[in-house]
Amino acid sequence: MAQVFIRSFIGLGSNLDGPVAQVERALVALAQLPDSRLSAVSSLYRSAPIGPPGQDDYINAVAMFDTCLPPLALLDALQAIEKQQGRVRGERWGARSLDLDLLLYGGEVISEARLSVPHPEMLRRNFVLQPLFELAPELSFPDGSSLRERVAHCGDTGLVKLREARRS
Ligand code: ATP
Ligand code: MG
Ligand code: MG
Repeated sequence: MAQVFIRSFIGLGSNLDGPVAQVERALVALAQLPDSRLSAVSSLYRSAPIGPPGQDDYINAVAMFDTCLPPLALLDALQAIEKQQGRVRGERWGARSLDLDLLLYGGEVISEARLSVPHPEMLRRNFVLQPLFELAPELSFPDGSSLRERVAHCGDTGLVKLREARRS
């Protein structure tokens, strides 16, 4: 039977232990997940930290990831990659070597104890919306609102584009 690929988007972030290399390593790990295809990666961005003060800036990107993995299996895989790259769960929104958030999974709305999709904070975060917009400018959210509209409202405070997107 033909496999059905769902288009998901994954937000990557790091502000510890060589953030650019952390993000690049995570992209390699994503590309190696089974039954999945890393289809495109946004530019890398530098963003001012949210959360507890005194943290370094973050490196952020978004990946377009087509996958046959069900959502919780994908979350498990993302958390395994975070762990491989030394993620230690401390203070909420504290510094981390790698954060992989499942932003969107097709047009699905998921409300489970371990997984909320669309990612609940994404609409407020320019370091998510701007790179996502590079990859999918015509995207609409499950509630029918358009990414284009959301991006226009989120601004670019604290956000610097570092490197152009590549497509695979
Ligand atoms: P934020 O979610 O505000 O970006 P964070 O990424 O720092 O904060 P984490 O410590 O990485 O938060 O994750 C906390 C919990 O969030 C995880 O244990 C995971 O089960 C849950 N979670 C819920 N929805 C998602 C999602 N869409 N993507 C990733 N994790 C999620
Ligand atoms: Mg996060
Ligand atoms: Mg997270």
